[in-house]
Amino acid sequence: MTTQTTRLRTLDDLGDVRGSRVLLRVDFNTPIVDGRVGDDTRIRQALPTIQALRERGARLLLVSHLGRPQGRDPALSLRPVAERLAALLDAPVALAPDLDDVPDGDVVMLENIRYEPGETKNDPELAARLAALADAYVNDAFGSAHRAHASTEGVVHHVARSAAGLLLEREVATFTRILRAPERPLVAILGGAKVTDKIGVIQRFLELADDVLIGGAMSYPFIAARGEPVGDSLCEPAGIPVARELLGQVAPAGKLHLPLDLVIGDELSDDAHTRIVDFGPIDDGWEGMDAGPRTREAYAKLIAGAATVFWNGPVGAFEFEAFSGGTRAIAEAVAHTSALTVVGGGDSIAALRSFGLEDEVTHLSTGGGAALELIEGRALPGIVALTS
Ligand code: ADP
Ligand code: MG
Repeated sequence: MTTQTTRLRTLDDLGDVRGSRVLLRVDFNTPIVDGRVGDDTRIRQALPTIQALRERGARLLLVSHLGRPQGRDPALSLRPVAERLAALLDAPVALAPDLDDVPDGDVVMLENIRYEPGETKNDPELAARLAALADAYVNDAFGSAHRAHASTEGVVHHVARSAAGLLLEREVATFTRILRAPERPLVAILGGAKVTDKIGVIQRFLELADDVLIGGAMSYPFIAARGEPVGDSLCEPAGIPVARELLGQVAPAGKLHLPLDLVIGDELSDDAHTRIVDFGPIDDGWEGMDAGPRTREAYAKLIAGAATVFWNGPVGAFEFEAFSGGTRAIAEAVAHTSALTVVGGGDSIAALRSFGLEDEVTHLSTGGGAALELIEGRALPGIVALTS
């Protein structure tokens, strides 16, 4: 009998890269504000891999997408990103306008790869042209790993050597650990706007976790599924049958936790009138906006007792001070436990950051959709391609 093991190839598998040109796929899909990088987190997260490859003597050709350009939209040029990277590295970063015009240099960045129509179609010809620009390929773009695009998947079939960068390696290692062999109790907090976005993730954690804590606007379909009114709450109609199905499932008793109470408001603003009500029927003219105090206490207690915590999705409209208390309570509980804590999702990370707690968690996942697909148990094409 043979045991098949799959292993993600890492930088050490590349062998000697001294003097080689390495094509490095990064996720530099950052907000551009007035022609400058608004938030450079994603650029800073790629620095360890960039530095590791440079220390090994490699010359880099960086590839990223930015937004969803229709053609060569100058507003989605990577020039501001190249400028910010040059400042962070304290080294010149030349921008290659396209694949046929790549300047010489130790660190070169290719223009927005989505200027190429073949990128999102995973066009083999584009993949081969990308591969021809380098001796080896490294992917550090976890946030794009769930897409089979020319620069994330196709290119791998045309290069002799390929591997995951340090960031991608850490993402995969962390999720593998919490999904395969979590220290228990494993507690998952799932919030956010839409239950249909996260149904697969809820299902998987109902199998894997000890407690699944539901919060945010995605809890309102559970009220509707019980036949109770939700007032003017943000309540996705397609989520109601999903919630009904989850409620009807014979999940182990007590595993699925719904909020106990809610903060409701008469408008989405800091000047709203607010009330605290039990998790249940909501009157017309009122919207569910945040987790109530009893929910905060109950959820914080479960988080404090966990050995592993995964959190995705704010539990309220945290962008408004008046409705940020529930999400703050979750963030503080996650920050203050000594458990292994993993937080994913753009808005969840923005919330942590707004409370100044982003350095207090074990792992901030850089891939929203990619992380959710990994949890659902789907094969991510960008990762499969780098697995032996
Ligand atoms: P993430 O980006 O972390 O995956 P989502 O995109 O699923 O999270 O959801 C985040 C959004 O959900 C936020 O903009 C937040 O305002 C909204 N939200 C969460 N709970 C509520 C609520 N109870 N009422 C209104 N909006 C909510
Ligand atoms: Mg979001």
